[in-house]
Amino acid sequence: MKYLSLAKSLEKLEDTTSYLEKNSIIADLLKETPSESMEMVVRLLLGRVYPAYVSQETGIGLQQLKKAVGKATGYSADDIDDLMEDIGDLGDVAEELTREKKQVTLAEGTLNVEEVYKNIHKLPTITGKGSVGRKTKTVDKLLADASPIEAKFIIRTVLGDLRIGVAEGRLRDAIAEAFDVSPESVEHAYMLTTDYGKVAKAVAEEGGEGLEGLGLTVGHPINPMLAQRSEGIDDILERMDGKAAFEIKLDGIRVQPHKKDDEVFLFTRRMEDYTSMFPELEKPLKKALKSDHAIVDGELVAINRDTGKPMPFQEVLHRRRKYDIKEVAEEIPVEIHLFDVLLAGEKTILDQPYIKRREKLEEIVKPSDKVKIVEQKTLTNPEEIKNFQQQALSKGHEGLLAKDLNSNYRAGRREFAWLKMKAKAETLDLAVIGAYAGKGKRAGLYGSYLLAARDPTSGELCTVTKVGSGYTDEELEELTNKFKKLTRKQKPSEVNAELEPDHWIKPEHVFEVIYDEIQKSPPEKHTSKYGLRFPRFVEQGMFCDIVSGVIF
Ligand code: AMP
Repeated sequence: MKYLSLAKSLEKLEDTTSYLEKNSIIADLLKETPSESMEMVVRLLLGRVYPAYVSQETGIGLQQLKKAVGKATGYSADDIDDLMEDIGDLGDVAEELTREKKQVTLAEGTLNVEEVYKNIHKLPTITGKGSVGRKTKTVDKLLADASPIEAKFIIRTVLGDLRIGVAEGRLRDAIAEAFDVSPESVEHAYMLTTDYGKVAKAVAEEGGEGLEGLGLTVGHPINPMLAQRSEGIDDILERMDGKAAFEIKLDGIRVQPHKKDDEVFLFTRRMEDYTSMFPELEKPLKKALKSDHAIVDGELVAINRDTGKPMPFQEVLHRRRKYDIKEVAEEIPVEIHLFDVLLAGEKTILDQPYIKRREKLEEIVKPSDKVKIVEQKTLTNPEEIKNFQQQALSKGHEGLLAKDLNSNYRAGRREFAWLKMKAKAETLDLAVIGAYAGKGKRAGLYGSYLLAARDPTSGELCTVTKVGSGYTDEELEELTNKFKKLTRKQKPSEVNAELEPDHWIKPEHVFEVIYDEIQKSPPEKHTSKYGLRFPRFVEQGMFCDIVSGVIF
């Protein structure tokens, strides 16, 4: 498939803000895409060359890209800098300069999707001596054959920012429209694969049946199911028809262990691979999981070496590191407590009801010192529930979680099938949209950040809070380095904010924030109309675009 067809669709998407029009443009593009190019086209449409759960950067910066543009178009670095000042976006600069060059040369439309995809895909693998030059040359070669709009989108893809206002979630409706299947079936297939590229290919080749044929793959993380807040025991019993499974709610970090024959992987809630940070869990997990292939879900908790009791989850965060892993593993021992199973053997079982999954979990897990099964009781009586809650709290856990006995596993969803009953501070995931310059000890760094949640009605990111505490010095520095690369002169188009941070940030990351209370805020301060009391930073993760059901 010609890359020019894709680039023309990207341009049309850039030119419209209408939701329906965007859907039709994508649907038309998908209809004309041959199935062998489908995965590539869908990923390129989302501005990347990997599925969402692979966090891979091209490793080529703005300065090098400027050089590539200069080389391909015959302009000097100064010319490019001047144009950047006027236009602001290197993609637009590349388009303009290529247009001028093209008056002299000929070839247009010779690039195909595969060539563009593969060359950008290989950028992170170019390492070692002289790698910067080789990376630049790879991009330069593509640009040499590109027409103006192709040059624009090649540059933007390498920079990881297409600027066409197409988020992951929109693919659901566009794929459904293109291939005449229900949005629900597309969404379900996405739950299993976390990759709209795979989903679109399956449906293009075999329609609805293709979607049904998709399952979980060991080694590919999926978005975990999340819990809603409850108003208390009566509320839970009413919502769950008088009977529910009550599980201990542990205070740690969510992990999704995968086992594939002799290999195990450990993914986090944000689908990052943490396997190497917890080497001491590898053997116990292999032993505890009796099935050759398995995907299970659980909580990783830190244990106090003296008392044997769980430590607060902030302690687990100290285990997230690349160095001195062995030493810290001894200082802060951890255990995994499993509470769900999504795949066992070759069988995807996340569509089975909770009770069946729990039975399967008990069947395939042989508990040990390091790998346990979460304690659970099926209860109907409020008195017994209170007692169990008390027991959980006195053992140092966070409380209980109630689970609907008949519900399937809803990947990536925060629904009422899992209800929280806890008495402690809450956390929220919010998009990072702005940064403020630090003062005093924090001079030269970003000292605080402006965070937002997506309003499901308008689709806008509305501000919720500023967060200036909870960071270690090391984290502040790391975050500053990361977010410096994502600053924008203008407020990003999807952001609705009254506050003006010192720097706008392209919304690509979330902060998990702990807070004491959600309180009303005047809209001239926070546009979500809510704010947080005592917000503190917990950790930073990838942007999965979860609308905050608590705020909206
Ligand atoms: P919250 O983070 O407050 O929304 O609560 C949901 C989180 O509780 C999950 O993402 C898990 O990390 C954690 N959790 C602890 N124990 C359990 C359990 N038994 N079942 C499900 N989630 C649990």
